[in-house]
Amino acid sequence: MHIDDYHSTDGTSIATDNKPQVAQAQSSSASCPSCGFERASIVRMTKGHPHYAALKCGRCDRFLDWMPAPATEGKRRDTSAKIDRRLKLPNLTRWEQNFLQGLKGKKLSPKQQECLAKIEAKAGA
Ligand SMILES: [Zn+2]
Repeated sequence: MHIDDYHSTDGTSIATDNKPQVAQAQSSSASCPSCGFERASIVRMTKGHPHYAALKCGRCDRFLDWMPAPATEGKRRDTSAKIDRRLKLPNLTRWEQNFLQGLKGKKLSPKQQECLAKIEAKAGA
């Protein structure tokens, strides 16, 4: 994420001419469709809102995109995928299988991480 990248020192927006459109489309800091301003502001949503934050044009306040909460969501999914892979290991005991199942979708405590590391070490993963 590079919200502030396209700002020159005098505060005006640059790079509209020499930047390929494709690159802008891939980035959430694409220029505003209303006014072309390339600096977005992140507006945090209230707790309980389905979205973490909104990306709004820094000039005209037009809504540009939703922003996911940083890291946490992806991290959790990552852990679940990791555990899924561990569950496919051939030499797990019934207890280890249950242990791994119980970890899915949860934030691991240091003790659980340690236990997970032991299972991985034992399985040679
Ligand atoms: Zn705008």
